[in-house]
Amino acid sequence: MAWLVALGVLAWIPIDLRTLPWTTATHLLGLRLLLAAALLLVAASQRLGTRRSPTSALFVFIALQAVGFAWMEAQIPPDAPPLLRLGYGLFPFVVAAQIAIFPLPLVWSLLLALPALGLLLLPSWQGPFAPDVSLFGGVWLLFLIVLISAWAGMSQLSLLLDLMRARTDAAHDGLTGLANRRSAMARLEAEIAQAHRRGQPLVLLALDLDHFKRVNDAYGHAAGDRVLTEFATILRESLRLGDLGARVGGEEFIALLPQTEALAARHVAERIREQCERHEVAHDDDTSIRFTISIGLASLHPGDDAAALLARADQALYRAKHGGRNRVVAAEEWSG
Ligand code: GH3
Ligand code: MG
Ligand code: MG
Repeated sequence: MAWLVALGVLAWIPIDLRTLPWTTATHLLGLRLLLAAALLLVAASQRLGTRRSPTSALFVFIALQAVGFAWMEAQIPPDAPPLLRLGYGLFPFVVAAQIAIFPLPLVWSLLLALPALGLLLLPSWQGPFAPDVSLFGGVWLLFLIVLISAWAGMSQLSLLLDLMRARTDAAHDGLTGLANRRSAMARLEAEIAQAHRRGQPLVLLALDLDHFKRVNDAYGHAAGDRVLTEFATILRESLRLGDLGARVGGEEFIALLPQTEALAARHVAERIREQCERHEVAHDDDTSIRFTISIGLASLHPGDDAAALLARADQALYRAKHGGRNRVVAAEEWSG
């Protein structure tokens, strides 16, 4: 947007040169170059991703235009062609209309409108008790434009928030709040590619609740759901920031541990297993549900893709089940 406005500021130069006296036009040329450079700086600062927040950059962007335009307007002689005077007089409305482009809450839009209002009032202000009638017309028009712009900004904001919520929902499992299969697979592939590139270790755990059918049969489906939710909490709290816990099936989960050696991952898996074994899910006043989990562990080998790693973790899980459940088995213990 700042690039575009800078272009517009420069595009007006020939019109100034043709319609205004030479000294005024060259003075305006300097101001236009200065304003365009400042606007390009704002654009570049956002591109380079400096620490400045986008909202303050937005305010600088709008305020710069207001100051620049006010300065230019002050150079226009009273006997300049009426059409040119009109063009310069439209600046406050051009600035106010730009607010519509940004998804902002109401207060922000109104704050951004202040420079435009200042730009409108400053040049035509004739003293506190003698505002001319056209000024009221201008303020009214500006108010309407700001209102519509703010409205547009708010509807954009609400759409954007809906979209973000929908994206989050689409990537997560509704019951446990963990990542779902689809987003877990995407992340798994990305982490595997990165681990190969950097030569870093990575471990995948495949976790499956033991005899979960019995839990459902004995306590009901709703109680089963509570067990799944509480297990998800155990899993989430056992993982580090940067690890991924996901629900990939009914009572099947995976955990992805980037930059982790097999031995360290084994400790994590054992801790999860022990916590499940100890945990009691409250059922009713005098019953609680106990459950256990089996875990298969696979470390990334050179040349592994997601399918190969998942297959090895699943094989290890299968062996954990057949070895008596409630245990952690590493794929490497059996293949090596
Ligand atoms: P194993 O130790 O061999 O894994 O035995 P299991 O009973 O856990 O395995 P199985 O795959 O035979 O059964 C899984 C059960 O998980 C069957 C299904 O009713 C239950 N289940 C799957 N999704 C949900 C869910 O969202 N909520 C509840 N409550 N139960 C679920
Ligand atoms: Mg199971
Ligand atoms: Mg299962």
